[in-house]
Amino acid sequence: MLPALFLTIKTPLNYNKRIHIIQHILTQKICETGKENQTKRDDFTVKMNLMGKLDIRISQLCFGTLPMGPLQAGIPMNEGVALLRKAFENGVNFYDTAELYGTYSYLKEAFAKENDVVIATKSTAETYADMEKSIFDALEGLGRETIDIFHLHAARAKREVFIEREGALQCLVDYRDKGLIRTVGISTHAVDVVEEAATYEDIDIVFPIVNLDGLGILRGNLQDMLKAVQTVHQAGKGLYAMKALGGGHYLERLLDAIEFTRNLREMDAVSVGMVRKEELDVHLHLFNDRSVPQGLIEKCLAREKKKVVVLGYCRQCYRCVETCPSGAIHMGEKKPEVDQETCLRCGYCLPGCPEFNLRFA
Ligand code: SF4
Ligand code: SF4
Repeated sequence: MLPALFLTIKTPLNYNKRIHIIQHILTQKICETGKENQTKRDDFTVKMNLMGKLDIRISQLCFGTLPMGPLQAGIPMNEGVALLRKAFENGVNFYDTAELYGTYSYLKEAFAKENDVVIATKSTAETYADMEKSIFDALEGLGRETIDIFHLHAARAKREVFIEREGALQCLVDYRDKGLIRTVGISTHAVDVVEEAATYEDIDIVFPIVNLDGLGILRGNLQDMLKAVQTVHQAGKGLYAMKALGGGHYLERLLDAIEFTRNLREMDAVSVGMVRKEELDVHLHLFNDRSVPQGLIEKCLAREKKKVVVLGYCRQCYRCVETCPSGAIHMGEKKPEVDQETCLRCGYCLPGCPEFNLRFA
């Protein structure tokens, strides 16, 4: 390869200059060839992967934006933007959001002028027209000309989701063909949906829930999910893991939980929700194979452990029961009861209540 490269440098240059250019070209080539490459930024050397066999290069640490938005912590815009910028300056180029999360504005503010970020979003739209609206809202809300990854947001949906939401899926495929979306994905908690996604040519990327004990997995256990994930990987699709910390349940086992998900060879990235600087610092250390400075984990553990509570009058519409992706809400005698052991603190149940009854407290 070296002589060939020498030949391609036609301008007369001294030997050292040629060597310097060749080294530069080789470094670029190596960085383009896929997994386990690294990008040096600031203090950290971030591990980069290719998303499946796609031409999308992402940091292994994916910044999940759900917790910073109105469904959870609702942090002020300047704090959210500062956190996103700090992540980016330390090599994190992959950000996950959703129409439902209400976090487009943070991402727009942080990255309006950056081309080198990969943003994944999702919509619960069921029809072609609704998905079309979601796409244009995302482009506008995120201030981008294309969306890198657009998922069918299908947390608790069943295998039939591909037929039931055929119009929405077709819309994503059409807009991928038009170039406004780069890839089509599905986000899910369910084993059968992951299995089915492996067989769908139109699906490029799968975003399943995978964590230490399989918390939140629907219609199967952790082993079933890992088997399904393997099938998706073998089909050449991209994969990144959702809820590695089980919605906060694994904070006490944070190191084990992150290690477990990071080490799954099928996973191109792991999405971790972060709200505070200390959390970002911990994950930057972990995803750079560095030991975490003493005291930093404890600061993360100090994060308030809020619970979903049901206040006031309930008209028993069952909307929250049906929305909950992990089956944590059951109707009690007069109002719903939340099983705090299985609640993933996603906040999905909050906005749908017609009585504004559900809160984190
Ligand atoms: S109870 Fe609400 S916050 Fe908890 S998992 Fe269900 S939808 Fe998410
Ligand atoms: S969505 Fe609100 S009103 Fe409906 S069952 Fe749940 S708590 Fe009650």
